[in-house]
Amino acid sequence: MNIIVTTTDCIENHRIAEYIDILRSSSFVGTELALTDLFADPTRKYRRKLDTIYDGALQEIRQKALAVGADAVVGVHTDFQEIFSKGKARFLVSVVGTAVRLERKPEKGEELTDNIVTQYRLRRSQLQVVLRRKLENESFNPDAKDWENIIRYALYDLASMLYKRYLVLASETISSVSLVEKKLFLDNFVPFLRGMDYESAAEVVYGDTETAPFVFCKVVKECNLFYPQKVASIMTSENKHTVIALLDSDKPLYTKEDLKYMISIAEYLDNLPDTGRYIEGRDGLFAKSGTLLVCERGHTSAVELGGHCTCQLEGSGAICNLNVKGITEQEVAAIEAFKTKIEILKSELG
Ligand SMILES: [Zn+2]
Repeated sequence: MNIIVTTTDCIENHRIAEYIDILRSSSFVGTELALTDLFADPTRKYRRKLDTIYDGALQEIRQKALAVGADAVVGVHTDFQEIFSKGKARFLVSVVGTAVRLERKPEKGEELTDNIVTQYRLRRSQLQVVLRRKLENESFNPDAKDWENIIRYALYDLASMLYKRYLVLASETISSVSLVEKKLFLDNFVPFLRGMDYESAAEVVYGDTETAPFVFCKVVKECNLFYPQKVASIMTSENKHTVIALLDSDKPLYTKEDLKYMISIAEYLDNLPDTGRYIEGRDGLFAKSGTLLVCERGHTSAVELGGHCTCQLEGSGAICNLNVKGITEQEVAAIEAFKTKIEILKSELG
């Protein structure tokens, strides 16, 4: 099997179907070498030595590529690192490249059949089955080795299961799992999700917006998974805080379709039902006059129309800050910023 190895990021006449893994081959060269020797090398002895090492490294990269089921290695580059130890210089020569699988094009008259299983694919399926079984047991959490495999082999079929677990772990204050397991989960899940394509990741994340809304919003933000259509479909007056918390999240690119849903989200937020009410204050009753706001928490405070409750919350001492629609000043600002974004998109998308 002929593995194409190239310094370019793509291969002419081929489409890359899958990025598999980053491959590296490193070796140390000599103890008596120094960079200056290399440049003033009359016999070209060191150059030849380096060439040999480079050829060896490329050979190793080819073998590694074969082992992971790749057809080609793209973006190959060489790093030279001079390392001094005990007064002697050594070189670390690393050849690094990305293993890819190319889309197969049928030859004339050939039916394209995928009747081969690469070692990589087999290993991936095995891991998927084993980890799925383990995850069905609620007290199991992936260890460091499992996470390495989940990310390296892109086990995206497990994403929904892992996300459900993540929602619980990330929102739990008192945890039933060990701190090490929890930290591993929190550190690895988001990078794992970032490796997925936008549509599939959104499918997973919007599949559960209720178990832990705060964690859900955080994931959307960290992974650029703002999805106007899905956000529009989960809008209810009960979860307006969740919807508002999503407004400053982003997505990789915006279409007219997105804009349409963003406008409907803004309209919805403009027309939220009142959760509090205004009453006319009378001198003597609250020792205040003019308009009084009774917020949804039952506080009464003197405010301008559209103002926010100035009462302190019991316990925390923070200011209540809800207006007659039950949203805070920060939330009002977030909605305004969202509308600005809509205006910009309108002019950009024509
Ligand atoms: Zn209040």
